[in-house]
Amino acid sequence: GSHSESASEVHHYPLAPIPEVTTVGNVQLQVIDENQNFSPKLTHYMKNVWNLGEVGFNYNLVAVFGSQSTGKSTLLNALFSTEFDTMTDFSRQQTTRGLWMSLAKNSNTLVMDVEGVDGRERGEDQDFERKSALFSMAVAQVVLVNLWENQVGLYNGANIGLLKTVFEVNLELFQQKGKGKTLLLFVIRDYLGKVPLSHLSQTLKQDLQKAWAELAKPKGLEGCAITDFFDFMFFGLPHRILLAEDFDEQVQVLGQCFYDSQHPNYVFRPQYHKRIPADGLQRYSESIWEQIVKDKNLDLPTQQQLLAQFRCDEIAAALFDKLAEEFKPHREAADAGVLIEDLGNNFTTLKDKALADFDAQAGRYHAEVYQKKRTGLSNKIDDYFHVYFKSQLSVLSKDALTFFSSHLKNGMCQADYDFVRLTKEATEKAKHDFTAGAAKLSQGFKWSHSKEERDLDRELAEHVASCRRSELAKLEGKLAISALDHFEEDLPSLLSFPQQGMWEEVLMSFAKAAEEASLAMKTRAEAFELSLDEVRSRVADVRVRTWEVLISKIKEEVASDAMLLSKLRQSLEAQFRYDADGLPRVWLPDDDIDVHFKNGKAEALDLLPLLSRIDISSKPVDFQTYFAYAHRNLDFKKSLILASQSRQADLEQRFKRESDALYLEAKRSIVATSAK
Ligand code: GDP
Ligand code: MG
Repeated sequence: GSHSESASEVHHYPLAPIPEVTTVGNVQLQVIDENQNFSPKLTHYMKNVWNLGEVGFNYNLVAVFGSQSTGKSTLLNALFSTEFDTMTDFSRQQTTRGLWMSLAKNSNTLVMDVEGVDGRERGEDQDFERKSALFSMAVAQVVLVNLWENQVGLYNGANIGLLKTVFEVNLELFQQKGKGKTLLLFVIRDYLGKVPLSHLSQTLKQDLQKAWAELAKPKGLEGCAITDFFDFMFFGLPHRILLAEDFDEQVQVLGQCFYDSQHPNYVFRPQYHKRIPADGLQRYSESIWEQIVKDKNLDLPTQQQLLAQFRCDEIAAALFDKLAEEFKPHREAADAGVLIEDLGNNFTTLKDKALADFDAQAGRYHAEVYQKKRTGLSNKIDDYFHVYFKSQLSVLSKDALTFFSSHLKNGMCQADYDFVRLTKEATEKAKHDFTAGAAKLSQGFKWSHSKEERDLDRELAEHVASCRRSELAKLEGKLAISALDHFEEDLPSLLSFPQQGMWEEVLMSFAKAAEEASLAMKTRAEAFELSLDEVRSRVADVRVRTWEVLISKIKEEVASDAMLLSKLRQSLEAQFRYDADGLPRVWLPDDDIDVHFKNGKAEALDLLPLLSRIDISSKPVDFQTYFAYAHRNLDFKKSLILASQSRQADLEQRFKRESDALYLEAKRSIVATSAK
């Protein structure tokens, strides 16, 4: 001041509280102190220091995440003209641990810096790092994830392991789907530019996806994707000291994304805003912090647990690979659909060995993690073998069906085999083999084969049913064919000298044969466990089939025109050329050839209608009821007709012509006799 030249001059100023802060701009507040207490002064800073008291939603909040001494504070200061403490090249400044907040120059953007302790091995420090990261994600729109290029792809080095935990707790504590997102801006430091940024970002994204897939998701969010809650941006920054100019230039470029709302990569998009009015930030963020610190559910894994997770995963993966390798010979056979004796034992042996090895190698790590990973390994092995269990089951059922078929086939070669007993026997044996095989396969595992068993049951039953149908049909055919013996004995003589009353005898022969066949069917019915209804229709079917055999046999006898004509001719000749004693006639001039001829011809022609139609009027069989329950179709009326009307007319013509020759021959013989 210009008034202080003279020491004697005492200026009395009104007594007023000395303002806590005197400069506006790069002043910082320790929002969370080294004892994890939340500052009560945030509202005061918002109003009086940063002039954000009245802005409502019109402010931004950006935070940073990353290992100690990776240049976080340096970056924030360069980007936002803040004055967070940095480690100088000569000495480490005594910076108080905690979360610091400051206002970016010439903007409404609040910037948070985190200050931890060097060295990752201190679990305590990681705890604060995780808590502050969790806090940042819950309140900030943008979290800068600061890492070196050579850390990309190193799971832990790239902080992904830590992020995973943070994601998990974040999801559990603060997230609902569709509530808005946070932007994670990965700043890759000491970026050499040799590897395209797109490759690095690809690697990071894959690591993030992997971590996300592994983390435990709360009820209702089981299927959620990392992209439901986070967006990603990637930026490469050159080495600050070796490429100082490039560094500054790229900081400018990155800065555009924060300052220029028209920029295509503008980071403060509305969807990232947490919608906390400026005057409520104190209460809101304080309660978030309380929740993070006090929530009993917030069981952040310790360093020990993280190590256990990492090592147990490694050990489990190696043991699983070893198991898969040892299973390989069986696998090839199993894939080829071969039934492998003792595969179940192999499953058990290999699994027990893997778990025993796991116990030996991983047993000394954090007990809870070890148990969880052990269960995980056990389940993974189960899943792996389950595929082969399933494929072996299908081999088993195929074998069971094959056995069943051949057993049946052999059994049915026996005469008068008992179908019911045979199929029961075969079914039981097939099922027994299947279940025994399945039990052997799944011993030591809790696998079920009930679906396959049901399928097999169904297939066996279908097989039995279709076999039964075809066997019965075969039997019907066989029985009907055996009637042929009767017909071959009776029919030819009946039909070679056809005469009135002949059909009655034919029908009686049929009735005899059909009854015999019916009886045989009734006798066999027991072996097939036929119901009464079934017996009735099977018997009727046998009769129909016997009838069909009869008809075909008759048709053989009268099939061709020549056969029919020869029967007529035989009749005429018997009448006309032979006398009553069966001696050949010698016509004498006085003989009335015309009358003899006319009578003989008429008698022969009478045979034509007789042979053209089976006459059932004599009724030795009541056909109405005889075929009533048959399943087999039969056009009975049609089956009676042996020669149609037109064929009969035609045959009549031909017969008349042929008989004329006989007549002329007789006439000529008289002429010849008298001419002697
Ligand atoms: P913080 O602990 O993450 O906040 O890191 P600081 O910003 O305090 O910086 C830690 C050290 O890294 C200091 O010695 C800085 O000079 C140095 N540093 C800052 N930026 C860079 C950079 O881009 N590359 C390298 N290699 N060192 C940097
Ligand atoms: Mg720092």
